[in-house]
Parts: sequence; C-alpha cells; structure tokens
Amino acid sequence: MSDCIFCRIVAGEIPSERIYEDSDHLAFMDIQPVNMGHVLVIPKDHYGCVAEMPEGAVARLFAVANRVALKVQEAVPSDGYILTVNNGQAAGQLVFHTHVHVIPRFRDDGLRHWGKREIGEGEIRGMAEKIREAMRS
Ligand code: 5GP
Ligand code: ZN
Repeated sequence: MSDCIFCRIVAGEIPSERIYEDSDHLAFMDIQPVNMGHVLVIPKDHYGCVAEMPEGAVARLFAVANRVALKVQEAVPSDGYILTVNNGQAAGQLVFHTHVHVIPRFRDDGLRHWGKREIGEGEIRGMAEKIREAMRS
C-alpha cells in the first residue's frame, strides 16, 4: 500500500532507525518517542488494525514485541514497560497499519495513567454477561 507510511518504511522508501527485522516483522524507533527507547513493532503485511489480523499473526506479533521489549530494557534500563496497541481512531490510532508500541516506563517519568470510573456492581455484571455471551458465539 503505497499511501501507508509504515508500508513505505517496510519498503525502505521512508528512512527509519531499524532495530530488528525478520521475514514477517519490523521494529524501528518511534519518530516522536513518548519516552526514551520507544519502539514500534509491526507486521510487514498491511493490516489496518489488529481486528483485521489472523489470530496466529497477532500472537506472533506480540511475541516479537515482547522479545524486543526485553532487549530495549537491556539497552535502555527502565523500571517497566508498556506494550500497547491503539486500535481505532477513538483509541488514539493515527497510523492505520497495525503497530505495537514498546514504551519504557520510569518511576518518575510523569506519564499520566488512565483515569478510573466509578461504576456500580450491577453495571459491571451486566457488561460481563454481554461479553460472556459474545465469547460464546
Ligand atoms: P498511533 O497513535 O497510531 O498508535 O501511533 C503512531 C506512532 O507512529 C506515533 O507514536 C508516531 O510518533 C509514530 N510515527 C508516525 N509517523 C512516523 C514515521 O514516519 N516514522 C516513525 N519512525 N514513526 C512515526
Ligand atoms: Zn501499511
């Protein structure tokens, strides 16, 4: 897909700081890192979002991302790390080629954690029932 930035990075048409590559995946430095050592891990095949990927490809992508994260942690010692995918515009996805963010976290890095919602037990139970139902189909 020539209009996809990450496909163009895979093709080498847009430069990137590559740190790992295999036949199906590429990992490279995020151009606007949230923290030092912020890496993006992508499948070389174009999938707009995780929901479009076959289950096996999702599993392999996360396995590679976690392996990369452990090496990032060796190279850029941190107190923890986030492995995350923004899936869909409402979730903050800006580039529509699936990517896993590997973001090192440092105790005092000032990143805000997401907020919590006060919600009744009944509502939680209701949501759980809907999700269980969806899981059965
Ligand atoms: P999203 O919000 O879609 O989850 O994250 C997209 C990420 O891609 C952002 O963190 C952004 O900094 C990064 N990004 C966008 N364009 C480029 C680019 O051309 N090169 C690199 N290396 N990263 C990019
Ligand atoms: Zn793409």
